[in-house]
Amino acid sequence: MPDQHEGPLCAMCNKAGVKTCSRCHGIRYCSTDCQQDDWAVHKLVCKQFTKFGDDQRRSPTQVRAIFFPDTAKRPRFTWLGGPPSGAEINSPASSAASGGGARLLGMNLDSVLDNNPVLHRPLESEIFIMSGRQPPGLRHMLPAQNRPNKSVGAIDPEMESFWTGSLFACGDHDLTPADFRHIVDYLRMECYREAILVLAPSSDETVQGVRLNCAGDTKICLRPHSEVFHVGISMLDDPNTLSSTIGQRIGIPLVAKGVPKAGGLPWHDRRFGPRVTDASDWNWHGCLFTRFEMRPRVEFTPRSFVVARVDRKPLYRMHAHAIVMYCYERMLGRQIVYEDPLGDPELEEIAEGARSAVNDDGIWGVSEDDFRQWYSTWAERPYARALMEREPGVGSPYDV
Ligand SMILES: [Zn+2]
Ligand SMILES: [Zn+2]
Repeated sequence: MPDQHEGPLCAMCNKAGVKTCSRCHGIRYCSTDCQQDDWAVHKLVCKQFTKFGDDQRRSPTQVRAIFFPDTAKRPRFTWLGGPPSGAEINSPASSAASGGGARLLGMNLDSVLDNNPVLHRPLESEIFIMSGRQPPGLRHMLPAQNRPNKSVGAIDPEMESFWTGSLFACGDHDLTPADFRHIVDYLRMECYREAILVLAPSSDETVQGVRLNCAGDTKICLRPHSEVFHVGISMLDDPNTLSSTIGQRIGIPLVAKGVPKAGGLPWHDRRFGPRVTDASDWNWHGCLFTRFEMRPRVEFTPRSFVVARVDRKPLYRMHAHAIVMYCYERMLGRQIVYEDPLGDPELEEIAEGARSAVNDDGIWGVSEDDFRQWYSTWAERPYARALMEREPGVGSPYDV
């Protein structure tokens, strides 16, 4: 949640926005770090905003809006002619429709943004997003609105084909580069929502798997560390899924699939806790898919993964957690301590010298017998008991 203080906030985090971009004066940051992190996005509008000062307004009814043309290389500010009286400006959607002219034809109100979905804080004023996107059933009728949006693609290439047709953003107030940043966060978050659906086909026969979430998913998208996730059985045979070596060793065949790249868009340029790429504790699930052959280099993955059993039996959260913890202990020599046995797992404490405890012998001890034995002890730990209460009636992974 935002800090309690007066004044505008940083565009990239919830600290006080004590610095202003010295070129455009249209966005605030708490620090040079946050400013640098935003630059790849902000540079798309920074310079042009200097030509959109209040003195450039041709009539008092105009409001400053942002247009994302599907055919142009970048988004741009524009003046939107409003209705004649100031009072009517209170209805931006109608002013967009009347004053925006022909280029807004065919656009619908896509969303009313009243909060930033990445920073989880309310906006000072609402932003209306008008979009040319059509419902799936109508897309063939309006091919122009099916065109990938190139100016959105300038922000992230992954978003180009998701946001089709032109986009328009306006509000009761003059939009600024700070609003542009809120809009980018919204566009990315919508893409993210779609990206994670890819792994959950609606028509395929499904099997219960577990989604092991990465740091971005937990910190930014507020997802739990793990969740039940039903996957289409076609994933089990898909050659692009990873088969888990540890699964083979312990006699519980597993496959995994990373969420698509667009699934990382919301936190693309944001800092939060430890760096995701650091083999950090936040990637605890990556361990599960370590290739023994490549030891001692442990492949951690920054992505969220969906894991399922090849034998089409349900994979329970409890079993997924157990396997991950087993990996940590046997392969990394780490003992995992949970601060809150009832909460979702966070690796709170790591044994001293854990990294150096990785040795070439450890791995060969991994087998079905070893795991069975380890599992029976693990099942007595408070954390395991808490998990069992959430999934009552679930026994050993060998008795599913
Ligand atoms: Zn900041
Ligand atoms: Zn600027």
